[in-house]
Amino acid sequence: MVLGELSGSISRALQQMSNATIIDEKVLNECLNEITRALLKADVHFDLVKKMQINIKKIVNLDDLAAGHNKRRIIQQAIFNELCNMLDTGKPSFTPKKGKTSVIMFVGLQGSGKTTTCTKYAYYHQKKGWKPALVCADTFRAGAFDQLKQNATKAKIPFYGSYMESDPVKIAVEGVERFKKENCDLIIVDTSGRHQQEAALFEEMRQLAEATKPDLVIFVMDSSIGQAAFSQAQAFNRSVSVGAVIVTKTEGAAKGGGALSAVAATKSPVIFLGTGEHMDEFEVFDVKPFVSRLLGMGDWSGFMDKIHEVVPMDQQPELLQKLSEGNFTLRIMYEQFQNILNMGPIGQVFSMLPGFSAELMPKGREKESQAKIKRYMTMMDSMTNEELDSTNPKLMNESRIMRIARGSGRQVRDVMEMLEEYKRLAKIWSKMKGLKIPKKGDMSAL
Ligand code: GDP
Repeated sequence: MVLGELSGSISRALQQMSNATIIDEKVLNECLNEITRALLKADVHFDLVKKMQINIKKIVNLDDLAAGHNKRRIIQQAIFNELCNMLDTGKPSFTPKKGKTSVIMFVGLQGSGKTTTCTKYAYYHQKKGWKPALVCADTFRAGAFDQLKQNATKAKIPFYGSYMESDPVKIAVEGVERFKKENCDLIIVDTSGRHQQEAALFEEMRQLAEATKPDLVIFVMDSSIGQAAFSQAQAFNRSVSVGAVIVTKTEGAAKGGGALSAVAATKSPVIFLGTGEHMDEFEVFDVKPFVSRLLGMGDWSGFMDKIHEVVPMDQQPELLQKLSEGNFTLRIMYEQFQNILNMGPIGQVFSMLPGFSAELMPKGREKESQAKIKRYMTMMDSMTNEELDSTNPKLMNESRIMRIARGSGRQVRDVMEMLEEYKRLAKIWSKMKGLKIPKKGDMSAL
């Protein structure tokens, strides 16, 4: 079942319940059973769904429902909270620190996207000023080293591996040692996968972990593996202590329930999502937008509320129109930054804007983020109208970038960073295309 279907089934179940004249235990049970079936079809593990059903029944008060409150909203909110709680393990995964050496070991089945994800993870950190390095300890799959080498070379990340050596432990230890000497702060060890879970694989993982003593083991999982996610994650977690999960291939119509299952099996948080084959198709994982998407509430419900709140009334229809056309220009980004700076408290506004929260404005660093936004706006002040209104990504060529840098007294790399940010947001906002724009106070209709 794809996510769209899941949200459709849940909406239908809620609608049926809302239509009932009297909401009693039976009607509520029917509704919850319907929702349970939908979640199971979306690959959320059976035990989790069962637990969730029990919790919701504890939370949802039949008297409240009978008193004419918005039933649909109350139950939807309860499901939303339950799913968020499931994904929010409360246990922070180990967080590497820039400038201090950390060894990160990646595990997962063959084809899960492990090697690709290792490079994405390295590249993501490299862009933020880290000094990552890649070690290929996959001696099982022919071509694994070549693949890693190719990716690493493209991203200009140092790598280590061998065509001759067949002992993965030896390679891993040598690679880690070498990069420790070279003061790399993020040493990423890519390990073998197998087509199936098998004892030899888990024994190899155990030996590798024992020899390299990783600070963090990341389990990589393909989002489409379905109900198998729970047992797969659990099996890896038994041989090495998994500290975080990365779910790949989440773009398009993937099922989402597997991620919940992996989190439950490892008690470790999802930290990133793979959203495509390319190096930069990698997103920091945010619990709330993910669950919104899973439930088909749209990432936009809170955002829409916020738009109605922060954007001046006379500008709302025009902005929403532009957004629903899916054309996110630099000018729109500029106007959004303006709204955000005018509004305050900035943290609260940011937390609602899709794509803005985790990346552009990490919690507790509002001041820095505000300075960053002002810096971006200064650079945009040096842009021409054509540049601000363009939807053609090729327009921003080298000479334009240099002119903007000169005009704003910044470096070329600052302008590039701002344009990268724009691209990232444009990609997220392009999902608004065709969006039905709800009126204020009508969020439950989403
Ligand atoms: P490994 O065997 O686990 O190391 O898997 P690979 O890294 O070789 O990836 C297997 C395939 O999945 C390759 O074709 C990758 O390009 C592709 N892949 C990896 N991550 C993603 C993703 O997030 N989205 C999509 N669409 N493909 C991905």
